[in-house]
Formats: sequence, C-alpha cells, structure tokens
Amino acid sequence: MGGMFERDLDIYRNRDALREDYQPDTLVGRDEELERYKTALQPVINGEQPNNIFLYGKTGVGKTAGTRFLLDHLIDDAAQYDDIKLTVKMLNCDGLSSSYQIATRLVNKFRDESNQISTTGYPRSTVYDMLWEELDKCGGTILIVLDEVDHINDDSILYQLPRARANGNLSNAKIGIIGISNDFSFRDNLSPKVKSSLCEEEIQFPAYDAQELIQILRQRADVAFYDGVLTDGVIELCAAYGAKDAGDARQSLDLLMKTGDLARDRDTKAITEDLVRDARNELERGRIREGISGLTQHGHLVLYALITLDREGETPVRSRDIRPRYTNFANQIGADPLVPRRMRDHLGELSMLGIISAVERNEGRRGGTYREYSVDMDINMILSALDETITEVGVHESIAGIFAEDTTLERYT
Ligand code: ADP
Ligand code: MG
Repeated sequence: MGGMFERDLDIYRNRDALREDYQPDTLVGRDEELERYKTALQPVINGEQPNNIFLYGKTGVGKTAGTRFLLDHLIDDAAQYDDIKLTVKMLNCDGLSSSYQIATRLVNKFRDESNQISTTGYPRSTVYDMLWEELDKCGGTILIVLDEVDHINDDSILYQLPRARANGNLSNAKIGIIGISNDFSFRDNLSPKVKSSLCEEEIQFPAYDAQELIQILRQRADVAFYDGVLTDGVIELCAAYGAKDAGDARQSLDLLMKTGDLARDRDTKAITEDLVRDARNELERGRIREGISGLTQHGHLVLYALITLDREGETPVRSRDIRPRYTNFANQIGADPLVPRRMRDHLGELSMLGIISAVERNEGRRGGTYREYSVDMDINMILSALDETITEVGVHESIAGIFAEDTTLERYT
C-alpha cells in the first residue's frame, strides 16, 4: 500500500474495447454494405482475377473495421482451398502524400527486414519495377488495401497498380486494389482513366443513425464496463450526440470512453447522463483548443477581434467591420496587418473549423454577395484557447468582466 499508483478497477472491465483499434467479433448495422462488399470479393475465392474496389464514406462509419472483418474471413476461408494462395497487404496512406511514397512502402511490405529499400532517392519508374518484381515473386492472388487513400496528391499509382497486369508488368500475380476514402470529392476528382480501373466496384458507407450507434455502443459497452456501471439513458445519450454530430461511431465511442474516464477520475461508481454532458464539453473544449492552436498568429488575432465584437453585441458582422479591431490588435503586438483578402481567408478557415459561422447575404440592387460572421462556440472555451494571444495583446474591455478575477493578465488599453 501507499505507492504513488494504485490499480483502479471499479468502472472498466476492459477499457481497450472502446479504443479504435479494437476489432469487434461482429459488425452491427452494416449488413447491406458488407453483403455487397462480400460479393465484390467473391472472385478471390473462385480463383479469378479480383475486382478493384473503391470504398467511401465519412470518418468513423466502419470502412476500416468492415474491411478488416471481411478480409480476416476471406483469408481463413481461402486457406481451405489448395489452389488459392492469398496475400493481403494493408497500407494506411495517412502521412504519405505521393504515389512514390506508397510504392516504396509497398515494396518494403513484401521484403524482409534486412532487405528494405530507402524511401527516397530512386527514380519513380525504378520503384515501380521493384514493385512489379515483388508482386510477381509473391504470386498468387494479392489484395492491396490503400486506406485513407485521399491523402495522396497524384494518382499515378492508382492507375499503375490496377492496370499492372493489363500493361504486361505482371505475369504471375493476380492483384486487386481496395481503395478507401473518407473524402467524397476524392473520387470525383480522379481522372477518368483512373476512375474506370480503380472504381470497378463502388461501395458507399453511409453515416450511422442514432439506432445504429446505440447497437454499436452497446456491443462495446458490454465488453468494456462492469455490469451495472452504466445507468439507463447513457448509451442513448451518447448515440444521440453522435447522430447529431456526424453519425460517426468513432466519435461516439470516444465520448463513451471520456465519460468512463471522468467517472473514474471523480471516483463515482455509476455513470450518469450528467457525466456524458460533462465529457462532451471536455471533448468539445479539446477540439476547439486543437483547432485554434493550429492557426497562425493572424488567425488568432482575427478570432480575438471577432470575439470582442460579439461581446459588444456587434455580430453578425462583415469582414470590413472586423478589420479596424483586427488592425488595432495587430499593431498592439507590432505585427503587420494582413491585406483584407488574406484576412478574409482566415475568417474562412475559422468557419471551416466550426469555431465561427459565416452567412452569405445579398448586396441588394448592386447584386453582389457578402458574408457576415458570428461566433458559434462557447466564448469561454475560445478565450481559454486564445490565452496566449490575449496575454500578448492585452485584455480588451469587452471581456474584462470575464477576466476580472484573473490577475495574471495585463489590461488592454
Ligand atoms: P472508418 O474507417 O470509416 O473511419 P472505422 O472502421 O475505423 O471507421 O470505425 C471507427 C470505430 O467504430 C472503430 O472502433 C470500429 O470498430 C467502430 N465501428 C464502426 N462501425 C461499426 C459497426 N458497424 N459495428 C461495430 N463497431 C463499429
Ligand atoms: Mg478508417
């Protein structure tokens, strides 16, 4: 007794079951999509040339989990047939930006530890030749999954891989590509020749509704929490928030985990709806903080200017009316104010992050349009994320009340 850390086992039976990388035994609420996906994979078991498959849908709708689930089964079932040799390679393209990088990663996935190639420095065609050589050496049926493929900026590999056999680059291997994208517009922006080869079979995963999220959360909660820890309504509330936000199972699972963690921190034995609301607030705060910390100094100044105008009851407000306050703040810290156009870009970025909102209005007889901006989020949350900027610029009188107690901050004059 008396160590600094003590085991804390009241709430969770298995907290890891709420993590994204936990693979559930069955997927709930995706029957139709998985049935189509399964049909698209059927040629593999038949010993035929596999289809290229393109899977798309927003984040957290089960694309990766569904793919893992089906491919695990496919690998097991293919093993029953002596004349099928199936190899599956999965590559997440997050953090990769070019076909070249993907090709080198793929080559290395087929090579053993001692024989890896450098991920820079070769001509692209050389890397492709290495890849064809590895694929043919491996032989049999090869499925290559490119997850989050929307991260790559050029589509060369998306053309080359599906066509490798037709182009005479492969003689032994039968390859199929499974491309997975979180971004709807990615498919539309592919060149027609890539689209026709990569998207032979297209499967869309729609967002989840509240009922589906309830099923998903229940399945995981049964594994994750001890019986009786969750009070009535907790799962339903997490699912309702999830359905309202984006129909994203990952986000709902995160909320449930955050709620469990709060219960643990506060040493309560039961998880209530109030705790869900607190957890959601904290997550929201984190999301805003992250969004704001990713902005440049001018983004911070523009946001600060808008907040003070909001406090004075001036919102919704046009960009040109934000400008004087922004310019003033910039001068205050000795930064050159941006030209109006660049300042507007920052307003656009802030509204994309969901921190502020922009409404398009008509100019009247002159026929043009302009935008009006207002603050979309809890001001206190934003102010706490803008801490550093406020310290530098000084506390504007419109928010002085909020900071009355806080003696560490200089008054703005
Ligand atoms: P995506 O790849 O579409 O962004 P994921 O497949 O990673 O989403 O799913 C996010 C999280 O939600 C994972 O933890 C996953 O296990 C879970 N999940 C998604 N859909 C389902 C489902 N239908 N049944 C059970 N769990 C699911
Ligand atoms: Mg995924």
